[in-house]
Formats: sequence, structure tokens, C-alpha cells
Amino acid sequence: MEHEPRELRIAGVTAFSTVDWPGMMAATVFLQGCPWDCFYCHNPALIDPRAAGVLSWADVTDLLCDRIGLLDAVVFSGGEPTMQRGLIPAMKMARALGFEVGLHTAGPYPSLLAKALPFVDWVGLDIKATRQEYTGVTGRARSGDNAWRSLELVLAHSLLRAGTKRPLDYEVRTTVHPAAIDDAGLRELGCRLAEAGVESWAVQRFRDTGTRSPLPRVDADGSALRLDDLPAELFASFSIR
Ligand code: SF4
Repeated sequence: MEHEPRELRIAGVTAFSTVDWPGMMAATVFLQGCPWDCFYCHNPALIDPRAAGVLSWADVTDLLCDRIGLLDAVVFSGGEPTMQRGLIPAMKMARALGFEVGLHTAGPYPSLLAKALPFVDWVGLDIKATRQEYTGVTGRARSGDNAWRSLELVLAHSLLRAGTKRPLDYEVRTTVHPAAIDDAGLRELGCRLAEAGVESWAVQRFRDTGTRSPLPRVDADGSALRLDDLPAELFASFSIR
């Protein structure tokens, strides 16, 4: 069955962002629904996969058409964008309008991600933990297998397309919350990512804006982690936000 962008359930749009794809001026489209239930989710209203959208794709294209020449890119975010079958047609349409395409994903659906990657120019991929530690963060069995398989796919595509007209760029991101990981665990995760071939890693301190309550009791909002012994030297690009 052929899917169409108008099937998308869109929870919101940011008309102008310089942070959702670092270095690019982008509009960000937030898609409803996520199969996981991370305890620190900063946007829990977007988790429910049955919830209706609040904007139509026509609303988004109107906005994009007004910004041709002003914006570089469209970033599809969520929730989990790969959950919706209208994603790829929407990406194709964004490209047809002349925009680069960015994707935020946590990688829960490797097979769907594989189909989307040919239409993506940049991926912000959440890798939340080592494969074995995932369920404690997402609340879902096998989430680690899917996320790390998605990482393999992103890295393979970036190598495959290196030097082509449309290379695939990416950033692996890890949100750190002291109830999910400690400094030693984060260092171990960094080493595993480097072993896998990751060259760009961003560590993001947890922020409690928009999260559910109560969160697991922790000493502070992420400051309990020192983040001073991370293997930055293993990455071509490394940042702490
Ligand atoms: S994967 Fe992202 S959107 Fe989904 S529950 Fe986790 S933090 Fe929230």
C-alpha cells in the first residue's frame, strides 16, 4: 500500500531551530507516538501512538513553502518518527521543495529506519545505554538490540555514501540521568560506541523540563554525574551539552 504524507499525525512544528540539527537552520516537525517509555522522557505527551495530531501536513508544507531560501532543512523528530508510514513520503516531499532532511530517532525499528535512510541527510541517533542496560531506561524488552542494530545501519549508510552527492552525516547522542547510568558506565558506553565505529558523540545532560513526575530519586538534575572521565579522544567530534 502506498502511504502519503497527509497520513502523518503531527504533534507540533518549530518554524525555526538552530539546535535540532547543529549548524543548520531547520524547521522541526514533531511526530506523535513512540513505542518506548523512557522514565526521563522530556516529551511524554508525544508517546501515545493512538493520539491524534494537531497539525496537518498541509499546514507544514504551507510553512515550508513560505521559508524556501530561508531554511536549510526539515528535521523530523518525535516521539519516534519512524513509527509512522507517512514519514518517507514526507521526506521525499521536503527534498523536492529543496530542503535537506534530518531525522531524530531512537532506533526502535531498524527495518523501517533502513528504508528511510536513503532519504535522510543527517541523523541524530539516541543511543541511551549499552545493549544490556537498555530495558531499564526504555521499559521495553529487546530495545537495546533494536537501537544497536539501528546504529549499525546508520554507520553502514554513512560509509556507503561518503563522498557521494548526498553523504549521510550523523551524531550519536546519549542523554545522561544518574538513575540510568553512572560515570563508569558512561565511559564504558563511550568505548563501546567507538569500537562500533562512531565518530561523533554528544553527551546531553538530563533536564527535567516537561518530564513526568515523580522521576526516580536522584541527587540532582544530572549534576551527580561528573562527566570528567569520558573517552573524548576516541571521537572525531565530542561534546557535552
Ligand atoms: S525514545 Fe524518546 S520519545 Fe520515546 S519515550 Fe524515550 S525519550 Fe521519549
